[in-house]
Amino acid sequence: MKKRTLRKEFSLNGIGLHSGRKTGLRFIPSDHGKITFLRKSTPIDAHFSNVSSTNFAVTLSSGNASISTVEHLLAALHAMGVDSLYIEVDGPEIPVFDGSSRVFFEMIESVGTVPIDSEREYFKVKEPVQVSMGDKYILFLPSDRFEVKYTISFNHPLLDKITESFTITPDTFRSVIGFSRTFTFLSVVNELKSKGLIKGGSFDNAIVLDDNGIVNGELRIENEWLKHKVLDLVGDIYLIGKPFIGKMVVYKGGHTLDVRAARHITAYQEPVSEMSIGRPSYGYVPHFDK
Ligand SMILES: [Zn+2]
Repeated sequence: MKKRTLRKEFSLNGIGLHSGRKTGLRFIPSDHGKITFLRKSTPIDAHFSNVSSTNFAVTLSSGNASISTVEHLLAALHAMGVDSLYIEVDGPEIPVFDGSSRVFFEMIESVGTVPIDSEREYFKVKEPVQVSMGDKYILFLPSDRFEVKYTISFNHPLLDKITESFTITPDTFRSVIGFSRTFTFLSVVNELKSKGLIKGGSFDNAIVLDDNGIVNGELRIENEWLKHKVLDLVGDIYLIGKPFIGKMVVYKGGHTLDVRAARHITAYQEPVSEMSIGRPSYGYVPHFDK
């Protein structure tokens, strides 16, 4: 199978979550074979080696140029099979839009994709590998598909120990994962606003929860928060630089663990000495009933 790029150039405008600034995106078809952001003419490849922060969102940097909140766009490119593209950004972060990947996968579908003269290579998990941070972990298992089994566990009655499984395809991304919005807590919103952050944040681009439940309307889909964590993972793991084939069993993931896992699963082709990585010491199915 050949790598694919967009059929034609396309532009989008939106508001950055943290800056509150209107930001323009220009998607430029290419045959260079990777996903590359352009910020003030500096190219920044979508690769874990360029990650400079995983605080709230994933930030990529090269030299003095940075581009933040890349994950929802990368998730759409990964799931919808776009391998090769330049994305010119005229601000410091990718616009938040509705807090999901909807704008991006709808753009890819409406523009369409075309093959380039380069074979697509997948990243395939060859043997079980686990990457852990405290009680959080991602267990990689071989599979001939892109599968995710995800468990969230937050100290909140609606978010306490939920597990769901998915096969990631363009269809499931379009109908289940891709339009799931990010979520946050009212206490966090108030704290960040008081620090002058999330200037572009509103009740239109996140599910906001307080101790009793959702404060801004209805969910788009059951357990939308869990599906959004899967969306983030689909984007973060694309920082391997190739489409992913395998199964990830995830317990309490997040950007920091996701990016660490992308780096380690790649490095695991060679022996590494970190304590946090290795073959799982138990059976393939973890139990969460403690
Ligand atoms: Zn997200």
